[in-house]
Amino acid sequence: MTQTARVPEKLEAYYGLPAEVKFCKRCVISNQRPSSVVEFKNRPSDKKPVIDFDSEGVCCACRYAEIKDTRIDWKLREKELIELCARYRSKDGGYDCIVPGSGGKDSTFTAHVLKYKYGMNPLTVTWAPHIYTDVGWGNLQRWIHSGLDNYLYSPNGKLHRLLTRLAFENLVHPFQPFIIGQRLIGPRFSALYKIPLVFYGENQAEYGNNIDENYKPTMDASFFYDARKTLDGLFLGGLPAEELVKRHSVDPRDLNPYLPVDGGLLQSLGAQVHYLGYYLKWDPQECFYYASEHTGFQTNTERTEGSYSKYSSIDDKIDPFHYYTTLIKFGIGRATYDAAQEIRNRKITREEGVALVRRFDAEFPSKYFKEVLEYMGITEQRFWEVIDKARSPHLWKKEGGEWKLRQQVS
Ligand SMILES: [Zn+2]
Repeated sequence: MTQTARVPEKLEAYYGLPAEVKFCKRCVISNQRPSSVVEFKNRPSDKKPVIDFDSEGVCCACRYAEIKDTRIDWKLREKELIELCARYRSKDGGYDCIVPGSGGKDSTFTAHVLKYKYGMNPLTVTWAPHIYTDVGWGNLQRWIHSGLDNYLYSPNGKLHRLLTRLAFENLVHPFQPFIIGQRLIGPRFSALYKIPLVFYGENQAEYGNNIDENYKPTMDASFFYDARKTLDGLFLGGLPAEELVKRHSVDPRDLNPYLPVDGGLLQSLGAQVHYLGYYLKWDPQECFYYASEHTGFQTNTERTEGSYSKYSSIDDKIDPFHYYTTLIKFGIGRATYDAAQEIRNRKITREEGVALVRRFDAEFPSKYFKEVLEYMGITEQRFWEVIDKARSPHLWKKEGGEWKLRQQVS
């Protein structure tokens, strides 16, 4: 009797993800990681380009880590930074650069090193987290008390909650309004205070966005400004702005903090947004050590749910849910992001990373669950409805009443 080969079941892949899941041979990231998200126009059906893997099965973030180690002349890059600072350094004692950040390890490092090593006079600006954790609030204070001025910008809570809920329900991306705000806050304060130089920390391209972005020091202006001065064509929380106004009774004026910054004004200022990670070799753990030493930055007392780490992204109680939604949509949870980065920076081996991912990646963040539901104004039942609908069939299966990932890194 001849046996015909079983044709594998064709499983649907949501969000334009590759139907076949592959893991990088060097780190633990999979080919499902979106390489960029167009925050303003993002809708669930949008096709998302994913991280590049080369013919040897290595992701572009690992390739870039190799380039950072071997092919970039960091002495020369630092010289470029010194020259940039010399061009912009204030001669009258005023602020000469904006450093946006929350007081986490990366922005703490960025602002502190610019002031105390490179002689700049930065103004730090913070787009407030949704719900501050105690340790996050403490680290913001420690950042300020290490010798830096800060503006804490807290968006209209009623609207920010609504947008967070809509972004969760429509995009399964509760962090979207925060990400938009955080990205715009630097250029917005640049325009407001006529300070043309803005420094963010590292470029997300370090972690697998388009690798070419690593080779330029500045942020693409389309990320933060736009000739458009109206709400036309603008999406927030997965809805057109007009619908927010009509169906959700949003006052159009309240949407201003989420609108691109006036491009004309920024151009007349000659505003530029730079990544410090282009000039200084970026290593998150080294930022942590620097921040601990120079500002008294503190880690969490316990490991972060969904991961094994204690020092990254610890200031917002919603943060663990951001990573939980990436686990649901892309099969990539927080331990994967943490381990991938640490493998590339040679803090842990791939074998250790695999074990950590298998142990922690799918852990549900229960600690702040009730508070986050309350913040978004949804029931637990609604939460799970949204989550379970977002599980792509090519990633998830139900076994004995429990959802399981079909593939795990090994
Ligand atoms: Zn990799």
